[in-house]
Amino acid sequence: MEEFAGKVAVVTGGAGGIGSATATLLAQRGATVVVADLDPEAGERMAAELTATTPGTAEYRHLDVTDGREIGSLADTLVSAHGRVDWLFNNAGIVENSPTLELSQTVWDRTIAVNLTGAFLCAREFGRVMAAAGGGVIVNVSSIAGLKVVHPEIHVAYDVSKAGVAQLTRTLAVEWAPLNIRVNAVAPGYTRTPILDAVGRTDPAIVADWVGQTPQQRLMEPADIAAVVCFLFSDAASALAGHVLAADGGYMVY
Ligand code: NAD
Repeated sequence: MEEFAGKVAVVTGGAGGIGSATATLLAQRGATVVVADLDPEAGERMAAELTATTPGTAEYRHLDVTDGREIGSLADTLVSAHGRVDWLFNNAGIVENSPTLELSQTVWDRTIAVNLTGAFLCAREFGRVMAAAGGGVIVNVSSIAGLKVVHPEIHVAYDVSKAGVAQLTRTLAVEWAPLNIRVNAVAPGYTRTPILDAVGRTDPAIVADWVGQTPQQRLMEPADIAAVVCFLFSDAASALAGHVLAADGGYMVY
């Protein structure tokens, strides 16, 4: 289980649902994990717990993925502290439901800034230090909502941001293959985390609707997504570049 020993992995949004499950699995496999998040309380708690209970180590670093300067400075700090950054899990994200005729530009701008511009800025700044070190792996987070129109919830800014992340993944995979940086994405289906509360998880009828649209007849768990992400980081996925891999219980093909 310690096959990731010696790897330095940054997890943006690492204090939240899918991010924290992934940080946990990475540390359980021996990696040095950087929990990079806006939330210091949850991030510090998570890092201390992982360091105490796993073969790996973890540290919390404050990060707002919309702030290019903060990201660049974190990348440089981590290179000074650890020598390099091997892996980036580009995971921080937000969502707000709104019928499009009522969608404010503020919500649109905020959603694109965190989900799409944030993914670009993190890829650029951590890609820079990976390129200088001879390579790395990036796993972005798209969504089923970036690949088809989901329902009954309505959140066009989120959908467009996640479609953008899918194309960012393909483009960077091609551009950075010569730099030995492998770029792929996971596209989670409906996954049991706090973000899902914002789009309807508190309503049993909506959850039943989502489950009914999913061939496996369930919500995904954060650990399901973490396992796919760790596969994409691992050498077992060395032939994969530019994939947007749906981890969705069959939702996309139903
Ligand atoms: P979550 O709300 O549990 O976690 C999100 C984390 O991101 C939180 O810890 C939050 O503090 C952090 N974050 C938010 N804005 C940030 C910023 N500007 N800078 C740094 N960190 C920030 O949600 P989650 O379900 O774990 O979502 C993780 C990713 O998975 C998101 O990109 C989300 O869009 C995507 N996703 C989730 C689902 C799902 O059903 N849960 C489905 C598809 C895609």
